[in-house]
Amino acid sequence: MYNLTVIPGDGIGPEVTEAALHVIDALEVNFNYTTVYAGEGCFKETGTTIPEETIDLAKQSDATLFGAVTTVPGTKSSIITLRKELELYANLRPVKSYPGIDSLYKDLDILIVRENTEGLYSGIEEYTSEGATATRIITMAASEKICRFAFNQAKNSGRTKVTAVHKANMLQKTDGIFRKEFFNVAEGFPEIESDEKYVDAAAMFLVYKPQIFNVIVTTNLFGDILSDEGAGLVGGLGLAPSANIGDKNALFEPVHGSAPDIAGAGISNPSAMILSAIMMLNYLGESYEAQKLENALLNVLNHSKVLTPDLGGSAKTMEMAEEIRSKLI
Ligand code: ATP
Repeated sequence: MYNLTVIPGDGIGPEVTEAALHVIDALEVNFNYTTVYAGEGCFKETGTTIPEETIDLAKQSDATLFGAVTTVPGTKSSIITLRKELELYANLRPVKSYPGIDSLYKDLDILIVRENTEGLYSGIEEYTSEGATATRIITMAASEKICRFAFNQAKNSGRTKVTAVHKANMLQKTDGIFRKEFFNVAEGFPEIESDEKYVDAAAMFLVYKPQIFNVIVTTNLFGDILSDEGAGLVGGLGLAPSANIGDKNALFEPVHGSAPDIAGAGISNPSAMILSAIMMLNYLGESYEAQKLENALLNVLNHSKVLTPDLGGSAKTMEMAEEIRSKLI
């Protein structure tokens, strides 16, 4: 029995969460869910986008499933607060091709590992007399930790190569440290090939020859940009899951936002949320059930017509979820 915190959020968040719970309920894993709130709706009710109760519960759970929230200008971001409070230092974004999906590449299986706690998203910005500055914090400890995490991910998933993406020729001190820690960690993994690319070249190669990548490890801002680029290579936001992992906690969320333009219509694609749940099952060590669910999803994407409009079908979110559930064997 796993204790799961569920944060449906706003917009399409609740419907993709309901869809994911509907399919994982049919698996042979027992979850004890507690639903708590965050985001815009929560702000309107309680005056905060992320109540202490939500943070505390997520800390005590085996894992958290997070739908999507609408940003409330001038308030603190619920997802960034959760990443900080739960010390979720690694953001994992798979870039994987799925059969039956209209995408630029049909053969990709890349894992992007993004440092989640520092870099240019440290939140230190200030106005100066000429404009403004932002501080890019890179520490040896966080760089070592994320690089070790990336190599361990590679090792545990049978991957053979890790590429550090940085810009150490221009950012000599900050990315110099990141690069040095990468190669120090690499020495402990002689069976895994280590490589490096400047971020501009990496952005080009991702479009031109993405097969050269297996695992990418990079700092916060570069990872944010490259992982959205990656999602674009394999079918877009409806199919992009993510995991935020720390030493004690983990949170799983689709990459897409709350999509206010389609919220309430019941037509959002539940795949990214279901793929996030699959990452959660793997994290919990339930790899057999994870594979079972992935097979059912792939079966529907590849052979079924019960698909949401963004995938070319006319099904509702829950109809597609039901179809996936019916294919679980
Ligand atoms: P945010 O700033 O929270 O990321 P956004 O509006 O920039 O929000 P999304 O909410 O991810 O980005 O939406 C971008 C576009 O993709 C919208 O047109 C939306 O309808 C579409 N979209 C996002 N997620 C899905 C989904 N699961 N199914 C179908 N369409 C989606």
